[in-house]
Amino acid sequence: MNFHSMSADQLRDTQADLKKRYDELAALGLKLDLTRGKPAPEQLDLSNALLSLPGDEYRDGKGTDTRNYGGLNGLPELREIFGELLAVAPENLIAFGNSSLELMHDLTVFGLLHGTADSDEPWGRQKIKFLCPSPGYDRHFAITESFGIEMIPVPMLPDGPDVRLCAELVANDPSIKGLWAVPTYSNPTGVTFSEAVTRGLLEMPAAPDFRIYWDNAYAVHTLVEAPPTPLRVLEMAAEAGHPNRVYVLGSTSKITFAGGGVSFFGSSDENLAWFSKYLGFKTIGPDKVNQLRHLKFFGDADGVRAHMARHREILAPKFKLVLEILEDRLSEAKVASWSEPEGGYFVSLDVVDGAARRTIELAKEAGIALTGAGSAFPYKTDPHDRNIRLAPTFPNTDDLRAAMDGVATCVLLASAETLLA
Ligand code: PLP
Repeated sequence: MNFHSMSADQLRDTQADLKKRYDELAALGLKLDLTRGKPAPEQLDLSNALLSLPGDEYRDGKGTDTRNYGGLNGLPELREIFGELLAVAPENLIAFGNSSLELMHDLTVFGLLHGTADSDEPWGRQKIKFLCPSPGYDRHFAITESFGIEMIPVPMLPDGPDVRLCAELVANDPSIKGLWAVPTYSNPTGVTFSEAVTRGLLEMPAAPDFRIYWDNAYAVHTLVEAPPTPLRVLEMAAEAGHPNRVYVLGSTSKITFAGGGVSFFGSSDENLAWFSKYLGFKTIGPDKVNQLRHLKFFGDADGVRAHMARHREILAPKFKLVLEILEDRLSEAKVASWSEPEGGYFVSLDVVDGAARRTIELAKEAGIALTGAGSAFPYKTDPHDRNIRLAPTFPNTDDLRAAMDGVATCVLLASAETLLA
């Protein structure tokens, strides 16, 4: 029954029943974890052929000896494959190390120390701000927080960030220098930015050194037949008169090995020249042997697509299970809503205002680890205390079922407590 239409007595009785069910749950002594947005071991197994590649071949198709120093931009043939998947011309895409987060960190550090291609004044000499569509990716916010960059939350809508608000904010405040964006199957909401929202972000008047970190981490990570066609965002930015506005990022972390993949950075010629200048002080070149391994493993962009279809076979049933349990256990009480993602790594669960922290606490006491309250918001502050990020990929099906059933009990109990308070 709908909790909101219960009398206080009915709700108290329901709470007492739920407390019993919760005590039974807690007595099971579970040790389950829904915090980890990482691939399951079976997913990693899909790429085990990498462990014996590139064999004793060490030259790429252009004859480069990948064992040696050099090639700061990465292997051209691998950049062609991922250029197609990220909708970036290969000559505007760098293939780098094992982590796109590292690239985002470097892009920010270089901006703080040296300014950007459009400004000589380092960001670090000013009091700068970033727009943070929320809920969003906690590690994006951790980068900006760690450097004392002020974070301004912006609501995430079903087709991307609230672009009107973004435009209003940047138009009136030249100290806003960045915006975090996950354009495809966003972490954690699953939202894919529409073309109209994207155009709005690219066209809006802003400081010349304003940058959009277009983190397309989940560009090919679909749970349905095919992912959305990626927007040619660099070309769109140039057409909008802001050719240097966008930093495109991506990696194979959740395609091959999360700890041993290849990352990518795409941008305008000017931005790439600016970035490479400073990157060249940091390294003589990336791990080209690993890049060659990936090149041989995939062959071409269709090789990546076929590989992602195998990930989907493992992941789609897990997401289906989570959604079935949420529907089955929570829909009647009307105390929660949740995303039904077509790709990516998360389900975003919203409970009644004021009940998220308590839900997470109850789950923890019952041995079910959930991502910390407020994690998906700047400064870990969820203004409504309602969002919970669920990560269904890592646990096996039995653990996932047990954990989600437990979570549902915790949501119901925390909601009853909150409504009665
Ligand atoms: N970007 C987003 C949106 C993510 O969700 C993650 C990992 O969860 C990353 C980047 C990390 O990427 P990488 O492994 O390439 O550093």
